[in-house]
Amino acid sequence: MIFAEDIINPVIRNYPCCAAWAIPVSSLATREREFFSRFFPASGTAIVLGYHIVTKDEWRWFLKEDGLHHCDADDRSKKICEEIANALGACGFRTDIVPYPGESGLQFRSVAEAAGAGRIGTNVFLLHPLWGPWIQLSVLATDAPSRYRPVCHAPVCTRCGECVLACPAGAIREDSFDGLRCRSYRAEKGEYIPAGPEKELRYCTICADVCPIGQRPWGAR
Ligand code: SF4
Ligand code: SF4
Repeated sequence: MIFAEDIINPVIRNYPCCAAWAIPVSSLATREREFFSRFFPASGTAIVLGYHIVTKDEWRWFLKEDGLHHCDADDRSKKICEEIANALGACGFRTDIVPYPGESGLQFRSVAEAAGAGRIGTNVFLLHPLWGPWIQLSVLATDAPSRYRPVCHAPVCTRCGECVLACPAGAIREDSFDGLRCRSYRAEKGEYIPAGPEKELRYCTICADVCPIGQRPWGAR
């Protein structure tokens, strides 16, 4: 039998900045399982692509002509996802790229954590053990089977409290995250209004910038 990993790994080897994980949909938590059974009912496996953000410039977001928000890390991830989907397609497997969380409603970080990419930290980023929060996540749904075996992952967040102290909105607590407070603060700051001729969206990244986990990208504060 051929598994998703047998097809994905040769693609990923061409991209040292990336890693991929696969997990059977049946091993996901109820919320994520329901998402896949509703929108991708034929898919038995979720694939997570993690793209390591190496420079802060790769994570600068712009509003483009298509009306969508783009950054280099996201654009490159999408191309690699297409390559993975094509490779799986060439082996007879149906594969779809799941739209970004804002459009699909799926929490990519929850799927990534379940698949073994890292652990969600106090700042609610998926923290990769080596890359910290500097990982752009994408998710695909495929009917290829997976070799996944459940493992017990050690915590990555040290609960140092840096993100709690640094958040200007007071949205991060040791044991909870107030997404509404975060979004309201960012809206007040005009973050969602494109700035300058390039239509840049200057998103708050303070809670990632202060996190001591992983390899901080060049250009981060
Ligand atoms: S993005 Fe900014 S406002 Fe939102 S939780 Fe992080 S530091 Fe706070
Ligand atoms: S800054 Fe500290 S508490 Fe916050 S996510 Fe990173 S390691 Fe965890």
